[in-house]
Amino acid sequence: MNNTKYIFVAGGVISSLGKGIIAASIGKLLQARGYDVTIQKFDPYINIDPGTLNPYEHGECYVTVDGHEADLDLGHYERFLNNPTTRANNITTGRIYQSVINKERKGDYLGKTVQVVPHITDEIKRNIKTLGTKNKFDFVITEIGGTVGDIESLPFIESVRQLRWELGKNCLCVHLTYVPYIAAAKEVKTKPTQHSVKQLQELGIQPDVLVLRTERELSEDVLRKVALFCNVEESAVVQSLDVPSIYEVPIMMQQQKLDETILRKMNLPIGDTPELKAWKEFLFRMKDAKESVKIGLVGKYVELPDAYKSINESLFQAATYNDRKLDLVFIHSEKLNDENVQEQLSGLDGILIAPGFGQRGTEGKIAAIKYARENDIPTFGICFGMQSMVIEYARNVLGLTEANSTEINSKTPYNVIDLMENQKGISNLGGTMRLGAYDCEVEKDSIMYKAYHKKNIQERHRHRFEYNNKFKTSLEEAGLKCVGRNPETDLVEAVEIPANKWFVGVQFHPEYNSTVINPHPLFISFVKAAVENKESKK
Ligand code: GLN
Repeated sequence: MNNTKYIFVAGGVISSLGKGIIAASIGKLLQARGYDVTIQKFDPYINIDPGTLNPYEHGECYVTVDGHEADLDLGHYERFLNNPTTRANNITTGRIYQSVINKERKGDYLGKTVQVVPHITDEIKRNIKTLGTKNKFDFVITEIGGTVGDIESLPFIESVRQLRWELGKNCLCVHLTYVPYIAAAKEVKTKPTQHSVKQLQELGIQPDVLVLRTERELSEDVLRKVALFCNVEESAVVQSLDVPSIYEVPIMMQQQKLDETILRKMNLPIGDTPELKAWKEFLFRMKDAKESVKIGLVGKYVELPDAYKSINESLFQAATYNDRKLDLVFIHSEKLNDENVQEQLSGLDGILIAPGFGQRGTEGKIAAIKYARENDIPTFGICFGMQSMVIEYARNVLGLTEANSTEINSKTPYNVIDLMENQKGISNLGGTMRLGAYDCEVEKDSIMYKAYHKKNIQERHRHRFEYNNKFKTSLEEAGLKCVGRNPETDLVEAVEIPANKWFVGVQFHPEYNSTVINPHPLFISFVKAAVENKESKK
């Protein structure tokens, strides 16, 4: 395609309507028609990236292959499109300002007064357009975080307004709003949508497409009314009804011909409707699964499922490909101890020990690992989960009762997990961890190898601490094998107990690499072991 096309997705009325899922679904449908698509997210906060944010703020921090700490919506983009994203796919207000201020300090603005318009808006536009032109994508879909009308997102909305003007038919705006159902009146209400569109119009943007999020099926009349009041063609008003799984949304959008409307509005040929065969096969297996598999996720953010978004999705995908429903139980690591661990974990088919930072809940994770190891329950440790497996083994098998990570106890005499050498002088917290994809060599005779079917893998990292090779010989002799190592640095990337059915810990984050079409082999293998464990109890 000659000219990159730009689609903007902005939300109105309230947040959390699922802009990311709508953006990903549009992307999926266009990709299925043979276009090269990427999705970008703008976050209107001032942090440079979400790496320094507590999960209570915006949920999980996602990591791209090129080591960028990113918004969790990028995870959705990758899971839907099966394409890696990069640093250029997630931009914050902080990054925009940092770049403008750096240019100002260099004197690039030649004595001009630096202002929101045009300097900030130009920088925003540059970040949108370079993604298209540099990487030659056919479509760049840009999701604007926040809700229309927020003070913070105004410069982004103004940039979209300018781009619409500059790009003409090569630009399209999708507005996602909410149509509530008022139980007392037994009616759905379109007024908030009308107001939201008006607000967008006041900012100079007429939406081309409206997606109405709703809990109740909307009638043709309601859709027609919204079209009339909002100056949007009837065929371009679609509804996004609540569905049990986010993976059904692309199909729902295709049924309402959202992709055709977009192509028509952008003067592109419509062609045949793609079959989405592999995607539908996944949905079929998801709905067809009768029996469940019960996985316990041990972590400290149980009240906040978004904190483990990619892990939840990876488990869900793996369960589906094992033809099982996922019965996911969140277990609060802070409330777990040697006394109550049996009662809390005994009914589980498999246990996943979550990543984490800081001391809170660490002893509960260790109690869970001890129980799982001694009772031979399939157990998967990720990042801090793997580090906890090493600590537990050192304490309870090697007898080094004070073993710990120096992150938790800097004075431990047995620092089985320690700060990486190149992390020691670092005082800045932002973007300074071991981040992004690194090579790992897998030992031939291991569960890992059986899962991946290959020796050389690449997985994404996000941590400062590492397995301390000083303890490698004694841990291995005692039965905790190192089965993955970085070929350049010799860092231990994975451990296993061969004597157990399935007991694997990985220093990296496989959950960032699992998509609907390409589910992650380790998750598949873990859930399979959990299913077998369940069957063996029958
Ligand atoms: N806190 C640990 C570290 O920094 C583990 C990090 C994680 O689980 N992502 O090494």
